[in-house]
Amino acid sequence: MTTPPRRGRGRPATFTTATRRVFLDAVAAGTPLGQATQLAGVSPTTPRRHARTDPAFAADLAAAKAAGREARLANVPHGESRYNNYGCRCTTCRTAATTARTNRRHTTNPDPQVVTLPAPAASSCPSSLLLAKAS
Ligand SMILES: [Zn+2]
Repeated sequence: MTTPPRRGRGRPATFTTATRRVFLDAVAAGTPLGQATQLAGVSPTTPRRHARTDPAFAADLAAAKAAGREARLANVPHGESRYNNYGCRCTTCRTAATTARTNRRHTTNPDPQVVTLPAPAASSCPSSLLLAKAS
């Protein structure tokens, strides 16, 4: 029985340069971090640990996250949602948000439900109120 020759001691590294490239490209394309780690085939905690110990990788990851944020924002159409959730203040978003807000403020309920409470009986007083009366 023969075993393949080992290159060195210890467990082989899973977060190699190629794996890092796959992960960083996925993040830069706007993929959520959990899915990016699945694409790269590493544990979800691995990139975070490497970013903590490797400043160069931390800088690359920050740049990839910023690019991913921009990529995700590019897919969101201009409107009230983008105004509220992403802080877009372009004319289209501002107008849509103002219109929606105005419509909500001026909408009145055509059939309000009025709840009539039964009149309290003279002797039915909760015990907490009796204690308040006694003091
Ligand atoms: Zn906008």
